Order: sequence, then C-alpha cells, then structure tokens
Amino acid sequence: MTQYVAAIDQGTTSTRCMIFNHSGRVVSSDQVEHEQIFPKAGWVEHNAEEIWENTRRVAAGALAKADLTTADVVAVGITNQRETAVVWDRTTGKPVYNAIVWQDTRTDKICDRLAGLGGGQERYRDKTGLPLATYFSGPKIAWILENVEGARAKAEAGDLLFGNMDTWVLWNMTGGVDGGVHATDPTNASRTLLMDLDTLSWDAEIAKDMDIPLSMLPEIRSSSEEYGKVRERGALAGIPISGILGDQQAATFGQACLSPGEAKNTYGTGNFVLLNTGTEKVLSENGLLTTVCYKIGDKAPVYALEGSIAVTGSLVQWLRDNLGLISTAAEVEEFAKTVEDNGGAYIVPAFSGLFAPYWRSDARGALVGLTRYVNKGHIARAVLEATAFQSREVIEAMNADSGVPLTSLKVDGGMVVNETLMQFQADILGVPVIRPVVNETTALGAAYAAGLAVGFWESEDDIRANWAQDKQWDPAMDDKVRDREYRNWKKAVTKTFDWTS
Ligand code: ADP
Repeated sequence: MTQYVAAIDQGTTSTRCMIFNHSGRVVSSDQVEHEQIFPKAGWVEHNAEEIWENTRRVAAGALAKADLTTADVVAVGITNQRETAVVWDRTTGKPVYNAIVWQDTRTDKICDRLAGLGGGQERYRDKTGLPLATYFSGPKIAWILENVEGARAKAEAGDLLFGNMDTWVLWNMTGGVDGGVHATDPTNASRTLLMDLDTLSWDAEIAKDMDIPLSMLPEIRSSSEEYGKVRERGALAGIPISGILGDQQAATFGQACLSPGEAKNTYGTGNFVLLNTGTEKVLSENGLLTTVCYKIGDKAPVYALEGSIAVTGSLVQWLRDNLGLISTAAEVEEFAKTVEDNGGAYIVPAFSGLFAPYWRSDARGALVGLTRYVNKGHIARAVLEATAFQSREVIEAMNADSGVPLTSLKVDGGMVVNETLMQFQADILGVPVIRPVVNETTALGAAYAAGLAVGFWESEDDIRANWAQDKQWDPAMDDKVRDREYRNWKKAVTKTFDWTS
C-alpha cells in the first residue's frame, strides 16, 4: 500500500495542508486564507480560533482531494509562521487576546525598556543570537500580560499557556483542554528571545526581565520525534505528529540545504535567507540572526545564519489591495515587462520598520526618484526590484559573517513564479538563482521532519536524493549598471530613517 506524509503549513496569510509521497512530490493540497486584522498603524493580529478551524478544514480537504483516508497517512508534520504569539487559557482553550503577528511593532516601547536595562539592542545577542526587536515573541507575550485585563493574575496562577502557531496547532490537535501536548521545537523557540542557543532551554533571567512566568512556556523538544497523536475525530485521527519546524527552517530543510555553506531564499510575505552553518553557532557581526536550523531527534542541533526581510511579497499585496494598481499579484509582472528598467524610481517598503541588516523600528516606507516620466510599469518594476535589492543586502551581510561568498542561491516561495524578478535577482547578485521542481519547500520540510521520525524516510540522504532542479537564471547585467543600481538603492534606504519620533 502506498503511504504518505501530511504537513500542516500554518502561514501568515493562509493555512495549508499538503500530502507528500515518498519521492517528496505533492499529491494533494488544500488551503484557506484567514483575516489580517490591522487595529492601528503598525499593529497586525490574527484570530487564533479561526486559524485552528482552518487547520481542521484543510486537513480534511487535502485528504478528500486525493481520495485518501487516514489509514494512508503515516505521520503529520507542522510548520508555521514564526514569532506570532498566542496566549490562551489552558482550562477553557480560549485565547485571551488575538495572536500578535510577527510584523507587529507595538512592542517598540517594551524593547526600548529592556534595552535600557543595559547592553542596548544587543543585550541578549550572545545567549539568543537575536537583537532586541519587535519581531520576536517574548516582548509580544510581555505586552499581552501587561495590557490584557486579568491576564497577569491568570498567568501567575499557572492558567495561561503561550505558544507560537506550531504549539497552538499541536496543543489543539492533541486534545486541547483534554490533555493537549504543550510543546515546541528549537527552531520556533529560538525566535522568542527567551531560549539559550547553547542549551536549547528557556533562559530564566531573560524571562524574569520580561516578567513572563516560565509555567507559560512550552516544553522544548526536538524538530523530529513523536510529540503525540492526533486526538481529533475525523481527518488524521490517531496519526502521530512527529515533525515541527518554523517555516523558514522548514524551507531550508525542504531545499536540502543540509550541509554547512548551503543557503536558500524564500520569497513569501517577507523574504528569509538562511545559511546552514552546521553544528557551529556563528554570531553575526553584520545584522543577521543566529537561529536553530533544525534538530533531528537526539542528534546535535544544526544552526543557521538568517537574513530576515519583513516586506517583499506583501508589497505586491499592498499595490493590489491598498493602491488598486493591479488586480492580481501576477499582474505586477505584466506591468513590469512594459518597461526596460525602473525609470529612476525606488521603493523601500519599510512598513514594519526595517529588519536585517538594519533593525530600525523607526524606519517607514519611501518611494523616491520620481519624475514626470515615471509610469505604472516603472512602479511595478520598482516593487519587484525592492525584493531583490533587500535580498542582496542580507546576502552581502552573510558573506561578510561567514567569510565565504555564496556561489549560487536556491529559491522558493510564492514570488518565484515571477521570472522577471528571478532574472533581476540573478543580475543584481551576480550569481545564478536556482528554483527546484517542488516549490512547496516549507510544507515539504515539515513532512521530511515528520517522516524521518517514523522511518518513512531513512536519512537526510533521502532528502538530498529527492531534490531536483526546475530552472536556473544566470546573471546578465553589466557590472557598471549593477553597481549604480545598488548604490541608488542604498541611498533610497537612508531616506526611510527617523520617521516615528
Ligand atoms: P506566505 O507563505 O508568506 O503566506 P507565499 O509563499 O504563499 O507566502 O507567497 C505569497 C506572496 O507572493 C504574496 O505576498 C504575493 O503578493 C506574492 N506573489 C504571488 N504571486 C506573485 C507574482 N506572480 N509576482 C509577484 N509576487 C507574487
């Protein structure tokens, strides 16, 4: 009997379930979007209960579409939007507040206050690999405890649980109030600002600084082991949940970047470049993050350097939803193709401040270089180019940190269907860009982690053997043009600073 592995991919804009076969090919997929809630400028929330409902729907949907039953699936993996924080009551299963999403900047003041305790923005860098920034979960938990009525008292009484989306989905899938497993993996835990990267355990001192009771935090297990079985009746009931990886680490795993020096760039809502640095933890001196890449069962953890970019694909959404300049995301390419170049226009989408390598929460977006000549096509190009320029900035930082320049870049994510962008990325980087056959690397990585734990795949060699190239773009831009364009971009970035005071 042919068997399969299911992956739940709880993303920023949608929740998916994908079913993979032994060759790592998608046999079925179902997806539902959820509401993006913007209560104030800089705030972004999700309804965690809506997301849990969607998870159940897509799990049933993916099975039905492939005409499979629960008996055909041997394991379930979970991958998720990282950092997004949910706090819920363990006795009722109800969140005490909406999930605060990774892009949300409301914890600005909390971060400033923590930086003021000494050490500034780098206060927790040595222990956690991260700068103090609004991006991470810890300050978001602190905000909920400080601002939601009654939350502090309940937390002190041990009634509240914290989780990133992996933990929220796992707890609910394994029974919720009726014995749900409250656990996470080190890739997710490494994004909270609360985990010690060497010991892979919660750091009591940092938790104390943020006034977060340790009783709220999930148990940190590995990325590939059986956490529990699906307790739900219906789709996937009884199947072991045996893999958890944060979405970007999952994509790195799914791209088979399993040796030190291998890197991928995922083009989704934001962009995330991860470089596998092996069992060595490399602390960045150039504005990158140090994070856990994966930990397979009892094996030593593998680390990564990460360049996180907050806004890339979501700039395309903004063009569609806020400006109405395009009616579908794909149209951005049609308009970009009507012109030769950006016509002198540059867009720096610092909507959530700037992440790597700047970490400036005071930055706000800028559209510069406008003349009467600039038209819709130029703006569309500038939107796509913003993604490629930002990617070059973090890859340069990576080259500086690792001392070994990247020679090619594996890519994946929703934007890589855009061939105009892929060519420009190769041009502006000066190295080939390579897209694999299976672009759904995030879900695939979670499936691999789950399948390895139950012996469906034997070793990481199976993952390497399954990886196959679809297309490669080679650089074709004149060096002088490349340098000029990049210089102009850097100048545009300087126009975004100091907008929030
Ligand atoms: P996530 O997993 O972060 O939710 P996806 O990997 O599904 O995101 O990618 C979706 C993003 O890709 C959206 O922000 C969308 O605007 C962008 N996108 C989709 N199609 C295109 C396209 N043809 N050209 C440019 N961007 C696109």
